[in-house]
Amino acid sequence: MPVPGPGQVLLKVSACGVCRTDLHLIDGELPDPKLPIVPGHEIVGTVVSCGAGASHRPGMRLGVPWLGYTCGKCEFCLSGQENLCDRAAFTGYQLDGGYAEHVVADARYCFELPASIDDAHAAPLLCAGLIGYRSWRMAEGAKRLGIYGFGAAAHLVTQVAVHKGQEVYAFTRAGDVTAQKFAMSLGTHWAGSSDDRPPALLDAALIFAPAGELVPLALRAVRKGGRVICGGIHMSDIPSLPYSLLWGERSVRSVANLTRRDGSEFLALAGEINIQSSITTLPLSRANEALERLRNGALSGAAVLIP
Ligand SMILES: [Zn+2]
Ligand SMILES: [Zn+2]
Repeated sequence: MPVPGPGQVLLKVSACGVCRTDLHLIDGELPDPKLPIVPGHEIVGTVVSCGAGASHRPGMRLGVPWLGYTCGKCEFCLSGQENLCDRAAFTGYQLDGGYAEHVVADARYCFELPASIDDAHAAPLLCAGLIGYRSWRMAEGAKRLGIYGFGAAAHLVTQVAVHKGQEVYAFTRAGDVTAQKFAMSLGTHWAGSSDDRPPALLDAALIFAPAGELVPLALRAVRKGGRVICGGIHMSDIPSLPYSLLWGERSVRSVANLTRRDGSEFLALAGEINIQSSITTLPLSRANEALERLRNGALSGAAVLIP
């Protein structure tokens, strides 16, 4: 059993979401992981004990996200961009994560969760939801919003966008009628394949699939001044593209990690709009199967491991 150090809490894990980043980690696509590492950064658990200075009470429910530590001193930390901290440490990457029965976390980075959402349904909010939210914020003001890659992040961010009155256009793998129907059931305006042209030019597009070839497709689908936001931590190479796709003040940017502000804002909103996560639960012992199903696109919504 791990022991909480100063400022840390020991949690008994009740649910941990499976994120595509876990696959990138296992496939060796992310630089410098701590090895061996326990993956998992969408953790819901109950406080068992606290180290010195951590004031949470035992029995309290907390969520542990990807951002596990920041230095508080670098230029990024001091300018409200702790997501870019030079010395950040991430849960399930440099810090042991939630594919486990217990986890230790820095109490300052844990979140309280909306009471109306149970443990398993809350787990995907902690990365898919948070990163989706940060990506969505980068597209603030878009009336017509495209979403490429209709998995865990997309199905949560769609609910936020629909709630805010945006028209959502969902792009899935070619011929993935199940994903397109799922998208439409969440209130999207249109759903089609990623190489389709949408019926109207988009104001912004979010890309959640790790496929670089989506970038030129998304640029083609946005209007002049439109924004293409890449929400993943890893993406295959972006193919070369004609400058005319970027011309007209279109832009491409990435979204990295999260700030604690993103977390509290999004979780409050999730409770307020009673966000519904679509999940498949599996016992922790079947983590490898969950990862393979994610790899093969055989999940709608998110997989959640239950110890
Ligand atoms: Zn820092
Ligand atoms: Zn993640």
